[in-house]
Amino acid sequence: MALVETATFECGGCGTCAPSTWIDYDRLLYPVCPEYGRATGPLA
Ligand SMILES: [Zn+2]
Repeated sequence: MALVETATFECGGCGTCAPSTWIDYDRLLYPVCPEYGRATGPLA
């Protein structure tokens, strides 16, 4: 049996952590914060 390692996303804006499977990406492929509901890229 193998352990399944779940990648974790940490928002650079507010520090929220969430399983990476929760994370959506915007059209520029920046991760979208599940708290803000907006991208966390340099232009956000
Ligand atoms: Zn955030």
